[in-house]
Amino acid sequence: MNKRIAVVGQGVIGLTCAAELLEQGHSVDIFSKDPFPETNSMSAGAYWWPHKAYPQRRVSEWSRESYHQYLELKNTPESGVHFEKHYRFCIDPDDCAYVLDIVDHWERIDGADYGIDCYEAFLVTLPVIDVPIFMPYLKSVVQDKGGTLTTREIDAPESLFPEYDMVINCSGVGARQFVDDSRVFPIRGQIVRASLPEGLRESTRLYRKQDEFTLILPRSGEMVLGGTSQEGDWDRAPRQSDTDEIVQRCSKLVPGVADAEILGVSVGLRPGRDEVRLEVDCNSEGQAIIHNYGHGGGGYTVAWGCAREVADLADAYFTSGTN
Ligand SMILES: Cc1cc2nc3c(=O)[nH]c(=O)nc-3n(C[C@H](O)[C@H](O)[C@H](O)COP(=O)(O)OP(=O)(O)OC[C@H]3O[C@@H](n4cnc5c(N)ncnc54)[C@H](O)[C@@H]3O)c2cc1C
Repeated sequence: MNKRIAVVGQGVIGLTCAAELLEQGHSVDIFSKDPFPETNSMSAGAYWWPHKAYPQRRVSEWSRESYHQYLELKNTPESGVHFEKHYRFCIDPDDCAYVLDIVDHWERIDGADYGIDCYEAFLVTLPVIDVPIFMPYLKSVVQDKGGTLTTREIDAPESLFPEYDMVINCSGVGARQFVDDSRVFPIRGQIVRASLPEGLRESTRLYRKQDEFTLILPRSGEMVLGGTSQEGDWDRAPRQSDTDEIVQRCSKLVPGVADAEILGVSVGLRPGRDEVRLEVDCNSEGQAIIHNYGHGGGGYTVAWGCAREVADLADAYFTSGTN
């Protein structure tokens, strides 16, 4: 089956969908209003664990599927995916600890052994997705399969018909304007990039229910210090006050952070929504849009599972003869 499909969005959600649809034999063009290096996805850490992504049952299934995809990708070093130990100290019970059912290796640890007074703590081996390596890799996979990437703002999904047989809406926080969805809101995430203390490989997260997102995440040649999780804040400019607080919080948690050199600061907007919108939306003329947005702080964790569901929905739509 070879249909013409337009994907709106070149973040991790758009590109994983494009990869799956190309795999099914479709022609896929991917549009983005932001140049590829400036999407919100490029500002993430990232590691596999959902944060502010709902509903739990679907997120759990998508996370499982993505975990298995990352297990495969770790055998391709140029993908930037690797598995590392992650210390998770939970001051409050972690709403997303359900994903422990998915992973191959985890154990309970005692926070007191690490000088941390917490409700519970885990040592778990997780996929780390080294974003500055992974995203260009994903882009090249899509291009190698024949997908085209264009920087262009699209006014509305309907404007892409009849040139395309289907539109996939992966516009992230931009969905608020793009499809006029007032349930979408930004969750501002500022991170600091710092030099990597020698030998540090494992990541550490201090979790609180209403937290600032304290995280130390080593990746290739540097570490990411997190962060902020500011709901309703659209500002993508870095703030010195946030940087100071992030470095101070992370320094308390992991020795060596205080002496690290700051290499840069970046800000991305996580696409918040009370639940991910992943569904087919058919207008009165039978034109189909598949929406796939609102993944909050879990886009990398669920991307592959969502992309496969999108590809299955597209397949079902085309084979039902509606188009
Ligand atoms: C600091 C930070 C740390 C994070 N850490 C993690 C983590 O460890 N693990 C994890 O799983 N997730 C993490 N996330 C969340 C994750 O990055 C997001 O869930 C994910 O990037 C969302 O991807 P997206 O493709 O939907 O959105 P985006 O990356 O925002 O992409 C949206 C795309 O749509 C395009 N677009 C929008 N409107 C239009 C239009 N009208 N016309 C054309 N194009 C349009 C944009 O230009 C862009 O290309 C983090 C996020 C941040 C900010």
